[in-house]
Amino acid sequence: MDRRDALVEKFMQNVRDRNAGQDEFLQAVEEVAADVLTVEKAHSGYADARVLERLTEPDRLIQFRVVWEDDDGAVQINRGWRVQMSNAIGPYKGGLRFHPTVTPSVLKFLAFEQIFKNALTGLPLGGAKGGSDFDPSGRSEAEVMRFCQAFMAELAPHIGPDVDVPAGDINVGTREIGWLFGAYKRQKGLFHGALTGKGPAFGGSILRTEATGYGLVYFVDCMLNAAGESIEGKRIVISGKGNVSTHAAEKAIDQGGIVVTLSDTSGTLYAPDGFSRAAVAWVEERKAAGEDIASPPSEFGLEWKDGALPWGTEANIALPCATQNEMDADAAKAVTDSGVTLLAEGANMPLTSDAIAVLDRAGIVQAPGKAANAGGVAVSGLEMSQNAQGRFMTAEQVDEALRNIMRDIHDTVADEADTEGTSPDYRRGANVAGYRHVARAVCSYGI
Ligand code: GLU
Repeated sequence: MDRRDALVEKFMQNVRDRNAGQDEFLQAVEEVAADVLTVEKAHSGYADARVLERLTEPDRLIQFRVVWEDDDGAVQINRGWRVQMSNAIGPYKGGLRFHPTVTPSVLKFLAFEQIFKNALTGLPLGGAKGGSDFDPSGRSEAEVMRFCQAFMAELAPHIGPDVDVPAGDINVGTREIGWLFGAYKRQKGLFHGALTGKGPAFGGSILRTEATGYGLVYFVDCMLNAAGESIEGKRIVISGKGNVSTHAAEKAIDQGGIVVTLSDTSGTLYAPDGFSRAAVAWVEERKAAGEDIASPPSEFGLEWKDGALPWGTEANIALPCATQNEMDADAAKAVTDSGVTLLAEGANMPLTSDAIAVLDRAGIVQAPGKAANAGGVAVSGLEMSQNAQGRFMTAEQVDEALRNIMRDIHDTVADEADTEGTSPDYRRGANVAGYRHVARAVCSYGI
């Protein structure tokens, strides 16, 4: 064990003792600790203040019961949470996820990553995440609406425009934010920008829905430009069929990329000649209607591969956009054999630690979600400032601001990255740059 490993191991032992069994959270902390602890140790102010250790302990974790009535009149009970991880550089900020896999461990990992991601945007946003183990699949619109109202009845006392500003995440889109915001507004009697991702008719920012996927492609463009290349003509393998995947696909197509896959948990849609915009729109429609994507109309030239993962499809670029730990070591091996040389994460922590090791050994350049998918929260930040100022930016203004933010994040991360190798270590760069920003603030407040 070298000195750096010993430092990380000692730190992690303490975090493991405090968070037994919270595997996703421990994985996210270890990824950051491995890059940041040497930086912290070299700065006596940060080391004495034990900044990273503090950031692993949420400011508060709010848990509540959500009781709602289904369409048969039966009472349903779910759990809801909000993890307020750090407000060192701004109000707590992060999405809400409704999915049966949601646990305190998952939300703590997401809230922890959100601290660094939000710092990288350069906007004054703290880190948080929330959600519920509620599964909206197969539920009627009326049921999801009642669930959102019951969820907000519990969450509302804990949020507000200067306190904590939730947004969407998996299974929470514009529709759900509308219901959540309506419930918040009625309860508090205030028209406050206490949520982002709102509809443009009531204070939402243009392009918020598209922002994570578009921002991801802007980030990839910066990575390619730094290597003297462009997206034009590149084959791109994308996982997922949600908001991030489909908007990344759209933007990549617009920039001349060839998107060869989208996927869901039951299989992969393969487009040997690339998806058209119309084919992506078909996937979006099916997803919105809660229907599968297994039988595409023949005019789109798509093949459905039942039960298959997208990884291994011949490509130059991989964009995992589905969910955490979707790519394990075997899938990563398939990626390395498929011709991919660049990977950027649209999802949060989509690679297991073993998968990262496989890609590292193969020399594949990787952008972590903290940097590459920050476009969503960045436009949320723009929505907050539009609400505070009582104005609306145009689509052109938001798009330009998003491009600039993604370019700034790329450049900050690349500058901070270890340049010993031939290409930047974007993971290390994102962890260290995000940490430095937050550590400066934490240390300014005293103990
Ligand atoms: N859920 C998104 C993320 O993972 C966006 C959060 C937000 O806009 O607050 O960054």
